[in-house]
Amino acid sequence: MDCIFCAIIRGEIPSKKLYEDEAVYSFADINPQAPVHALVVPKKHIPSADAINGENADEVKKIFCAIPKIAASLGLKNGYRVITNVGEDGCQSVKHIHFHVLGGAKLPENMGV
Ligand code: 5GP
Ligand code: ZN
Repeated sequence: MDCIFCAIIRGEIPSKKLYEDEAVYSFADINPQAPVHALVVPKKHIPSADAINGENADEVKKIFCAIPKIAASLGLKNGYRVITNVGEDGCQSVKHIHFHVLGGAKLPENMGV
């Protein structure tokens, strides 16, 4: 399967690692949209949040258990935003579920059109 994030997880494409455990990998976004911009992904390939189900929800649980640790390690004491884009209208460009963790500044209130 030709998935850029699977290749990053395997170490075939270099990334700035921020966190790793048996199920989760986190790395710096190559095109940061905030002073701090981490991506958090499951090591198992799940295409998007629209593909979460009873079989794979444990991977998502592990992501959300890792996010507070990642945020603390990045110094996001004053809060942060977690976003996952889904499909065409959500502007999802990489089809391996990923959670953007954005912070390091007061973020814009507006999240929609
Ligand atoms: P999406 O648009 O799918 O929600 O987010 C994909 C994110 O992956 C974008 O923010 C983009 O900058 C990031 N990205 C795409 N390719 C790479 C890469 O090769 N390395 C890293 N570190 N980030 C990437
Ligand atoms: Zn993948």
